[in-house]
Amino acid sequence: MTAADHATRSAIVIGGGWAGCACAATLASRGAAVTLLEAARTLGGRARRLELDGRVLDNGQHILLGAYGETWRLLSLLGVAGDAAGLLRLPLQMRYPPASGGMDFLAPQLPAPWHLLLALWRARGLSRADKLALARFSLQARLNGWRLDTDCSVADVLARWRQTPRLTALLWRPLCIAALNTEPGRASAQVFLNVLRDSLGARRAASDMLIPTVDLSALLPQRAADFLARRGGTLHYGMAARSITRIDKRIDKRGEVHGEVQDEVHDGQRARGHAATRWRVATANASFEADTVVIATGSEPAATLLATSAEPLLAPLCATLRGLQHEAIATCYLQYDRRLRLAQPFYALLDDGAAGRWGQFVFDRGQLDAAQAGLLAVVVSASNQACALPQAELSSAIARQLAQVFERPELAQPQWSRVIAEKRATFSCTPGLLRPPNASPLAGLLLAGDYTAADYPATLEAAVASGVKAAELALAAT
Ligand SMILES: Cc1cc2nc3c(=O)[nH]c(=O)nc-3n(C[C@H](O)[C@H](O)[C@H](O)COP(=O)(O)OP(=O)(O)OC[C@H]3O[C@@H](n4cnc5c(N)ncnc54)[C@H](O)[C@@H]3O)c2cc1C
Repeated sequence: MTAADHATRSAIVIGGGWAGCACAATLASRGAAVTLLEAARTLGGRARRLELDGRVLDNGQHILLGAYGETWRLLSLLGVAGDAAGLLRLPLQMRYPPASGGMDFLAPQLPAPWHLLLALWRARGLSRADKLALARFSLQARLNGWRLDTDCSVADVLARWRQTPRLTALLWRPLCIAALNTEPGRASAQVFLNVLRDSLGARRAASDMLIPTVDLSALLPQRAADFLARRGGTLHYGMAARSITRIDKRIDKRGEVHGEVQDEVHDGQRARGHAATRWRVATANASFEADTVVIATGSEPAATLLATSAEPLLAPLCATLRGLQHEAIATCYLQYDRRLRLAQPFYALLDDGAAGRWGQFVFDRGQLDAAQAGLLAVVVSASNQACALPQAELSSAIARQLAQVFERPELAQPQWSRVIAEKRATFSCTPGLLRPPNASPLAGLLLAGDYTAADYPATLEAAVASGVKAAELALAAT
């Protein structure tokens, strides 16, 4: 092996969720030799296709925003034009079933900020005081440049900017738990404002809501895998990384690489003279070597993998990763007669766990994919309590809630139902949360995932942005 070979940029990406796929595709697009290891048989991680009782579903109903700039950039790198991506684009809206006591807020196709002003003017179910409060919030946030001197809870900011109880219940709380998956009393106001800045505070298209019409693995991860294959990368399914080890190879003056010099490097310093750091990743029955390793698993498995390296410098990072708390999201699928249809692709629902009304949003999957006619998906975010219920109890309660709010008794009797509870769906996005950077203290070792330090909460956009950033850092280093 010569130094020229040694300089070839190579990377192992551990984890084929949206962050890992974004990272692998970005590295491959810039000529790196990439090996992607995914423990499961399907790509996508927490946003993936799954099969249940012969049905192709997702592990959870997702919604994307027009503001997801890194996601759209990546899809375009993968050769997918916006409209062909497999998404239904809808204008910003918060529409409750007419007889449910909610509101009807729908942004028209006008340039910003007129789309919001007209939506506010026309909104049904809000009093004058509610509308004034919303205008006040928007003005105050803009005057502050969408920044707070000190982060606090969303509930604190809503109180400070005098938001009415009704507007809080119908707009702010649903938006907060949909975006941050954390109740307003515990959610970071700064992160909430970041999301509002890029959606409500930006051009109209940024506030659009996009609902996948294809399964979540097909939407982006599979396209990234196809791109990777075209660029000569390798993808291993069902292959979990078990350990990572730093190895240092000595390069002599002629550029020849001579074996490992494993114990010569201490305290995170690169080896002196002509030594180069490489990384080895071991699975149950294989091992891989590269200049760079990007750990793109969730935070908990990342801490476990980092610990296998036995590098003392990584201990504080492991502690930060293990310190992240998590929130659940439950998606309840209910199958009815194939002719059943709601008047719109999705609605907001007024939830009240104490009264057994758990559902927060309902999606008519049949309007997104004809193969799913008659299938409704009901989302319960920030739902540690709902996820603790027996599944049959939760799905019956949700079916009763639908029958009541839509005034359609047949909705209480689905032909089939299943709850998919993701207990560690996202990290709890609390005020002033310490999130780790992509770069670790060791050269060639990086992290990617929705939890790394960023403006956004745990979302597809945060995952993609983190994967792209890790790739950029790896390429800059090599
Ligand atoms: C039910 C639900 C609903 C959601 N709704 C939305 C939404 O509407 N909008 C939105 O933007 N976001 C939403 N999110 C959040 C979004 O799905 C996540 O932020 C995002 O998918 C995280 O991606 P990731 O790549 O960072 O991590 P992950 O998806 O967790 O990917 C990590 C991958 O690493 C693999 N892995 C783990 N250990 C190993 C190992 N040792 N070796 C190899 N591979 C390994 C895992 O199998 C997995 O594929 C939702 C999440 C859930 C669960």
